[in-house]
Parts: sequence; structure tokens; C-alpha cells
Amino acid sequence: MSNDLIEQAKSMTIGSDKFALPMPPTFDNLAAQQTYEKQRLAAGFRVFAMHGFDEGLAGHITQRDCIDPETFWVNPLGIHFAHIKASDLVRVDHKGNIVEGNSVINNAAFAIHSRIHMARPDVAAVAHAHTKFGRAFSSLGQLLKPISQDACVFYENHSVFDVFSGVVADAEEGDMIAASLADKTAVILQNHGLLTVGKSLDAAVANFVLMDSCCQSQLLAQAAGELKLISHDIAVKTKRANGSDIVTWGNFQPLYQVVNAQDNSFLD
Ligand SMILES: [Zn+2]
Repeated sequence: MSNDLIEQAKSMTIGSDKFALPMPPTFDNLAAQQTYEKQRLAAGFRVFAMHGFDEGLAGHITQRDCIDPETFWVNPLGIHFAHIKASDLVRVDHKGNIVEGNSVINNAAFAIHSRIHMARPDVAAVAHAHTKFGRAFSSLGQLLKPISQDACVFYENHSVFDVFSGVVADAEEGDMIAASLADKTAVILQNHGLLTVGKSLDAAVANFVLMDSCCQSQLLAQAAGELKLISHDIAVKTKRANGSDIVTWGNFQPLYQVVNAQDNSFLD
């Protein structure tokens, strides 16, 4: 267990000297880790479904494979997020070869996610969907402003990819998106949707849920009047706390509890 994570968790909890802190799991072997991560990825789709982040065939979440990091797991094309199981997932390499699984996958999923997984070795998972609020906000071609504690997570921590040239079909555009993302947590794909990354599947999905919600908040506030912004120093300080590894991972845990209680067939 990383001492950094323990210290981060202790700094924001009362009782952590007496009780067990919620922490990411550790594994004795890679096969157990792979099974867990596939189940977590399938759960991530259930969380997306719970938030209405499905839009026909659009949307994909990927998890880098822990045994062969040159490959990643992705959703099969055409299965609703609410029905995806761990056994439905498809593993693909960075050349676009399906190396495990029995379904086709979305071209754009490969073109975008493979290039981000290649460019960001620190990132384990990448999430993207065409959501109502993310899509609306993306059409403004603007960054999210630090208008709330939650929005500070993305302060100086996301970019706008302002090129829309149709459905992403080639790795060259995936490279451009990865370059726009750079070392940040998220990128707003103008006229398209949102994309977030994380050091774990949990963090990538929780960051996505939060970003979509922040887009909704800013759209509401901008429509209502003049925004009062949080100052630079406070926004940076708030990002360090609420955008920390332990908090971004932790934000997924209540969401997981809900989908797990509703229907845990994603584990299969
Ligand atoms: Zn898309």
C-alpha cells in the first residue's frame, strides 16, 4: 500500500488512527489483479448507464491490461452499458488486433484510447462518452471555470481539443487528442464530448462523472448570471486536496456500491 495514499487519506479523515481506511486493493498475483480490473471496468459501464451516459453505439471506457501493458480492455460494440459483463470485454493491442474476446469494437475507441494509453504510461484507464451536458458544454470551446469546490479538480488540469473533423477514425487524430490532454486529467473534445483519465479505472470513471456534473453546473450558472470565480491560489489548493489520488479513487466507491447492490451480473 502506498504511503502517499495512506497519508492523503489520514489528512482528510477523523478516526483514521483507530479504524481501517478505505484503500485501493493490492494483489498477490497478476491474474487476480486482471480479474478484478475487468470486473471494475464492467462496473464502470454500469455507473455510466446509471447516469444516462449511453448514446447508441457511442462511448467507451478502457483499462490497460496489467499482464500485457501493450494491450487494453474495452467494451464490445453494440451492448448497452447497463448489460456489460466482465466476460463481454475485449482486449486489443496498440496495432488494432483483437487478442482476446469475441466481439468487434468501435474504430474510434481504438483510435483515441490506444494513443492515450501509449502517451500516458501513468494512466491505467480512459473514459469517454457523448453526454448531454458534456456535449453542450463542449460546443462552447471553453475550459471549465473554478466556480465550485468540485470544479477546482479540473482547474489547470484539463484542456480543450478544438478540432472537430468528423468521427475520429485514425490514430493520427488520437495522437492529437493525446497531445492536447498532455499530462492533465481531462480533455473537452469540442463539438463532441468529454474524456477523462485516471491512475485506476475507479478514478477515470469518477472523474468523468464529476466533470459532466461540473459542465451542467457551469451551464446553469452562466445562463443565470455573472460567475463569481474562486481565486487562483484557492483553486490550486482545492485541486490538490480534491483531485488527489485517494479522493479521485474514493469518489468511485459509493457509485460502485450502488451498481453492485442493484445488479452484480457485471462480475460474470
Ligand atoms: Zn466520441
